[in-house]
Amino acid sequence: MKDRRTGNNQYLKEMNKSIVLDLIRTNKDMSRKFLADRTGLSATATGAIVKTLLNDEYIQEIGEGVSSGGRKPVILRLKPRSYYSVGFDIDERYIYTVVLDITGEVVYRKKLETPKRLTADETIETLYQAYFQAVNELVIRDDRILGVGVSIPGMMDIETKRIILAPNLGWSDVDLLNPLEEALDTTVYLDNEAMCSASCENWIGLCRNVEDFICINIESGIGAGMFVRGKIYRGFTGSAGEVGHISVDDKGLVCKCGNVGCLETIASINGMVAKAMRGSTSIQNEINVEKAFEELLQKARRGDSRSLEIFQEAAESLGKAIANLINTFNPQKIVLGKKFPDYADLVLETIRKTAQRLALSYPSRHVEIVSSPFGEDSSALGAAIIPLRKLFGK
Ligand SMILES: [Zn+2]
Repeated sequence: MKDRRTGNNQYLKEMNKSIVLDLIRTNKDMSRKFLADRTGLSATATGAIVKTLLNDEYIQEIGEGVSSGGRKPVILRLKPRSYYSVGFDIDERYIYTVVLDITGEVVYRKKLETPKRLTADETIETLYQAYFQAVNELVIRDDRILGVGVSIPGMMDIETKRIILAPNLGWSDVDLLNPLEEALDTTVYLDNEAMCSASCENWIGLCRNVEDFICINIESGIGAGMFVRGKIYRGFTGSAGEVGHISVDDKGLVCKCGNVGCLETIASINGMVAKAMRGSTSIQNEINVEKAFEELLQKARRGDSRSLEIFQEAAESLGKAIANLINTFNPQKIVLGKKFPDYADLVLETIRKTAQRLALSYPSRHVEIVSSPFGEDSSALGAAIIPLRKLFGK
């Protein structure tokens, strides 16, 4: 009984600490009095939490605010570069590493090219080296690391966190979490890469304070991370967001999922490159898709009509799929990211117009379709945000 009570007290203490920290994070002029007003905690209880947070250097005092009569309040802020969170994104050919500080500022980023597809064991070894390189370069103490987030291009079991299938990595039924936690000796969180990108937009990007939005990642495939009522929407078994397999052309090409005319076959980077290569779909292993896409983009920018047509078709099918998403989810924003910002200027207007033409007029008048301010490391950033979310009780 005693244990249980102590446990509850500990839980309440942690919860109050998270609430106080989050209020300080989201309000510029937080004082002790304001915190007490907002949390409903007594001045003594608030003072004690603030004292602990100051001692542990999560926060700092930054001079005095404006008095509303009486003593001027001392403003509290998160202390930059006091605690850190590490994020990795495991891609087919790259491993992205980022480190954020407690304020969400990016203090380290690195893109490492992998010579070939890595096995799970090789990936753990590579992440181990990348982790200690970052931590040593930044001179971060062990107790100042909030945790590690890893973004995976695949499906995970929602309970066990085992990776069920990551087709681009050639992995199925892999446990990355436990061996990685053991190797790094810190808490590790895994999430799907599209969910990570959505989390990044929500924490430091275009969807701060936006409760309902969809973040569509366009790269070798197409996937989406969705927030509904301010929370990540995963669906019943955790595979929500596979928008790349919305069928947009029933006379189209066969997709790797077995279906015909999926959005991915037309509007993903691989899909567009395949079309540029005269419709061959089995080119992935034979050519450098990234380089071929760069060439296609340059040709389109120089006004080559066939290349422009490929971008135009991609834009129209994206607009079509987005119209369905607008009708189904009624989101406030749709953010297109990863490779998309590189060519947004060529296609965004067509996407907007097509979606507007096909979606119901009321929800489509109220949705903003925008290009992400982040590039390819949005998933690594989102992965680094997972330990931060936990700290702030989100
Ligand atoms: Zn498909």
